[in-house]
Amino acid sequence: MSTLHSDRALGLDRRIPRRDFLNGVAIGISGAYAAATMRSLDAMSMPASITRDVQGPAGAVYPPARTGLRGNHPSSVAAFAPMESGAYRQFPSLDTDTREEYDLVIVGGGISGLAAAHFWRRALGDRQKILVLDNHDDFGGHAKRNEFEYHGRTFLSYGGTMSIATPYPYSYASKRLIEELGIEVERNAEFQKRDAFQKLNLGPSMFFDKEHFGEDKLVAGNGRIPWPEFIAKVPLPEAARSDLVRLYDKNPDYLAGKTAEQKMALLARISWEDFLLRHAKVTPDAILFFRGQGGRNNKRVDTTPALEAARRGSVGFNGLGLTFPGEAFREASYTFHFPDGNASIARLLVARLVPAAFGGRAMTMDSIVKAPLDYAALDAPASPVRVRLESTVVRVQHDGAPEHATGVRVAYLRGGKVHGVRAANVILACYNAIIPALMPELPDGQKAALRYPAKVPMMYTNALIRRWTSFATLGVQNVNSPCMLHTGMSLDAASTVGGYQGVTTPEEPIVVHMTSNPNKPGLPRREQNRAGAEQLLKTTFEAFEREVRGHLARALAGGGFDPAADIVALTVNRWPYGYAYTYDTLGDPDVPPEERPHVVGRRRFGQVAIANSDAGAAAFTNQAIDEAHRAVEELFVKNGLS
Ligand SMILES: Cc1cc2nc3c(=O)[nH]c(=O)nc-3n(C[C@H](O)[C@H](O)[C@H](O)COP(=O)(O)OP(=O)(O)OC[C@H]3O[C@@H](n4cnc5c(N)ncnc54)[C@H](O)[C@@H]3O)c2cc1C
Repeated sequence: MSTLHSDRALGLDRRIPRRDFLNGVAIGISGAYAAATMRSLDAMSMPASITRDVQGPAGAVYPPARTGLRGNHPSSVAAFAPMESGAYRQFPSLDTDTREEYDLVIVGGGISGLAAAHFWRRALGDRQKILVLDNHDDFGGHAKRNEFEYHGRTFLSYGGTMSIATPYPYSYASKRLIEELGIEVERNAEFQKRDAFQKLNLGPSMFFDKEHFGEDKLVAGNGRIPWPEFIAKVPLPEAARSDLVRLYDKNPDYLAGKTAEQKMALLARISWEDFLLRHAKVTPDAILFFRGQGGRNNKRVDTTPALEAARRGSVGFNGLGLTFPGEAFREASYTFHFPDGNASIARLLVARLVPAAFGGRAMTMDSIVKAPLDYAALDAPASPVRVRLESTVVRVQHDGAPEHATGVRVAYLRGGKVHGVRAANVILACYNAIIPALMPELPDGQKAALRYPAKVPMMYTNALIRRWTSFATLGVQNVNSPCMLHTGMSLDAASTVGGYQGVTTPEEPIVVHMTSNPNKPGLPRREQNRAGAEQLLKTTFEAFEREVRGHLARALAGGGFDPAADIVALTVNRWPYGYAYTYDTLGDPDVPPEERPHVVGRRRFGQVAIANSDAGAAAFTNQAIDEAHRAVEELFVKNGLS
């Protein structure tokens, strides 16, 4: 990560008047990481980089309004390394035995865990005692709400999962759950008002950075103006530019002489990058142009199988004469999203599980968006369902032999102390890779299968800027920066569900949403994912802030963007444990479906079933729901309840 600006020009020394953030709510500072990033804080002002605690309705801390390093925030994952190195191999002695007993304990309060609680209650009734334990200070897992207060106005954005892609490929169980929550995805068009950007004719652009392209240059119009015209402005050597023009035109058959089957077999075993270099014979410089592009699950040009790239209609393949009847890459026919993304799904689930958190009011898809949530009510002793946050489960152990056990003991860390609860049943709706540490007595083959996937490291960074005149001046709504840490950057076109108002004029504040997938080109994909996760875990918020400020300053310089004055708040949602891993033809063995690691890994073990999207090897909300449904059913079958 590097920037070409001084800290002062970037606004790293900038103090933001408290009134801009507070609007009358109380603010404190918490967390070791807040202290680590804090610089000169005085009574009246604070730098943008610190984490703030904002109080919610009943005086409890209100996590969605916390800024700074969010997502898998440091305290949420602090126990993972000791767990993985065997610190809890023996069931730990408890500092606090809560003496609580539950029908079901769920490890992980993401959409899968919350959906599991919902399915369980739907089948067995509302009096079932359920405890959801999650290691974060907010529920929802990847479904995280980011809130900003600025000049008396609330701005919402999504810190992780954003959209409901439907009707394809939702199963009956997941579609039904979405309906039960009152979400009418068919109202999508009503909510996606992007008039403000359309009126100004804003469109896509690419930012080419000095470190890789020799100069900083923003070029607008990719996909909008003829490619030769766009490519002529790209700061690459002439040979690379003419390669790009060729690729974006009708290509010759680079695999002439092979049958369609031979071509497909070859393409399945090489990357899109290999195809471009070895078969389309482009110069290596031209590859830089594609660094920010790739396939599903955040694969990049070097990790996307060429066959997948061909199916997606990526450049280079249109001369091969291949057709993919019935196999065309089908994304959803439409994608519905709330202003806070799928956090509203998590909130709607919580509204049904713990009604008191929303004051007992029935929530709809409209009312949920702005509804205040009392976090203090989530873990009330009187409630049959309790959601306990900041609780990292470190050990899960049956009383006796798993298939005949009378119950399960669960130990979790909270406030540095080991707590214990007991349960008749447990659903692990957490991460596959951490499960062997939770249950070392699992069969070795199952543990190896659980450790196989490498979740995709990701970052969704939300910067609130005081106005977007720079974007309007440049005519851009989004920027693809192929070689920067954040390859994507776009004005958040917040949907208008629930009366939430998107912005209408460039003089208004707006959230700039930036996306990143740290990786290490050249390594196999799983190793790249692990390297990217490590990078996310090691990088300080201050370093991210410097990078973000520098990136915005450089890309938007021509529009008069002033990072010091224009950036008014910053939330970095880092997800070292991001998307569930999906298989591909480059890096994964071609084994029968029943032998795939996620299938072997998710086998029920005694009274413990395994949910979470990792268990479905697919990074989608519907998968998280489907895995919850399966896990609940497995326990019903085991207990003779189905
Ligand atoms: C940045 C991002 C964007 C995405 N966008 C989309 C999208 O637009 N549409 C879509 O359909 N999907 C999207 N996804 C995929 C997303 O993962 C799923 O949609 C879904 O939210 C996954 O839910 P889950 O409950 O299976 O997992 P998670 O959301 O990961 O929840 C698991 C929870 O278990 C917790 N946990 C883990 N270990 C422990 C432990 N030992 N103790 C206690 N708690 C533990 C985790 O910290 C987490 O809170 C996105 C994912 C990411 C990361």
